[in-house]
Amino acid sequence: MNTSITDTPQATRIDGKACAERVLDEVTADVARLVEDGIVPGLAVVLVGEDPASQVYVRNKLRKAKSVGIRSLEYRFDETLPQSELLELIAQLNRDPEVNGILVQLPLPDHIDEQAVIQAILPAKDVDGFHRQNAGGLWQGLPVLAPCTPTGCLRLLQESCGELAGKHAVVIGRSNIVGKPMAALLLDADCTVSLLHSKSLDAANLCRQADIVVAAVGRPEMVDADWLKPGAMVIDVGINRIERDIDGERRTCLVGDVDFVSASQVASAITPVPGGVGPMTIAYLMQNTVTATRLQRQHATSATPA
Ligand code: NDP
Repeated sequence: MNTSITDTPQATRIDGKACAERVLDEVTADVARLVEDGIVPGLAVVLVGEDPASQVYVRNKLRKAKSVGIRSLEYRFDETLPQSELLELIAQLNRDPEVNGILVQLPLPDHIDEQAVIQAILPAKDVDGFHRQNAGGLWQGLPVLAPCTPTGCLRLLQESCGELAGKHAVVIGRSNIVGKPMAALLLDADCTVSLLHSKSLDAANLCRQADIVVAAVGRPEMVDADWLKPGAMVIDVGINRIERDIDGERRTCLVGDVDFVSASQVASAITPVPGGVGPMTIAYLMQNTVTATRLQRQHATSATPA
């Protein structure tokens, strides 16, 4: 199908920054209520190595935690940190009652087994939602800590699209961090879900049948107008740094997995990159820290003998 492209975008631009601010306002109010009860939620953030993008992400997470009243503890190590020492730190944070959430910034250096580290985090403190107990619980519809990025995408869809039940959602990408939990959350919201990946045959044709498209691939601007049914809602998770000629100069810029300009001619609503999903991820990390604090508190209360 060839969609004719005009100069006028049709789609509503979904403002992830504004939505994230609303989530953060809710979190700030929740934290204030916990503080009234004498509890300050604590988030431990662990960074190993000097990866520049990770440094930026960690800085933003710490700043946001402070702004909503969450106490953060920062642990930075150089990239030679032995795995055994990282696991010892996690065991110590698991035992610390003042730490409610533990986040280990990924990726980790090659000599560290990422899965060993993720699985070492107590599921009740796993604010990234990557532990297999949380991942499994999500597919069973249990109230677990779910990964922040897909939870943020769901909120954007609920606010922009209203009722999701019965809609056909196509998720492109099947990672444990985004694609699979996104599919689980959409299924739980009563969507009919198709999960596409690199071996899917005729992905564009499958995608064209969707009312909702979530692209989490890591391929710059792969999804364009030809992939979309008129009126589809598009959530672009991708963050890709590319070189492009802008005003006669070669510049580095950030683009998503969706070609925003062409997709905007066909979609009814679409998230931009940046300013779409990214701010929601951090907002839901804060929300998960509050949820983790509450769950631990309930557990402690129910475990106390009368
Ligand atoms: P992964 O590399 O872990 O997964 C990519 C997925 O895309 C895989 O399942 C892969 O399939 C699939 N894929 C690759 N090529 C194609 C293709 N041609 N057609 C269909 N599917 C394909 O990436 P992540 O899930 O971690 O991240 C995806 C993107 O989202 C990245 O750009 C990342 O930077 C961004 N991201 C953004 C976040 C945010 O806060 N905004 C947070 C997390 C990620 P297969 O399994 O077969 O290999």
